[in-house]
Amino acid sequence: MKPLTEIDVRSSFVNLTKGATKRLNLPADLAERPWEELDYLGWQDPKAPQNHYLVTEHDGRLCGVALRASRETRGPRKTMCALCTTVGDVALLVANRAGRAGQDGNSVGTYICADLDCSLKVRGKRKLDSAVVHETLSVEQKVDRLVGNLDSFVARVLRPA
Ligand SMILES: [Zn+2]
Repeated sequence: MKPLTEIDVRSSFVNLTKGATKRLNLPADLAERPWEELDYLGWQDPKAPQNHYLVTEHDGRLCGVALRASRETRGPRKTMCALCTTVGDVALLVANRAGRAGQDGNSVGTYICADLDCSLKVRGKRKLDSAVVHETLSVEQKVDRLVGNLDSFVARVLRPA
């Protein structure tokens, strides 16, 4: 993806109020992220660790989604990420739906790599658990699958309930 500035990121959120968008803590290393290897920008709020954020392109525009760690799960556990299908430390993250639906309490939950580093995993830039089943897909195919899963997740957040 193309490098994002603080303004890009803050103005992209689809499920936060303007006030919350201004207050959220951006990653300290925003300028040094390996953008050319990312399908989404993901980070955990350094000051409010239950809050996670991801920003990606969807339908030709930038979409930021605020997520929070589900209270039902205590920390990450070994399961499969719904985005990149890697098995590892995965967190159940919940996003309020965009607009009215979200204000009414409608949310969408999914399992995502706790470090929000799916892009690096599918490109072989992260060490994976040895128990992972060997896949014969190429990096491009894995990236395509990640982008497809990410797209349908963002679509679920945007879709009116
Ligand atoms: Zn993942």
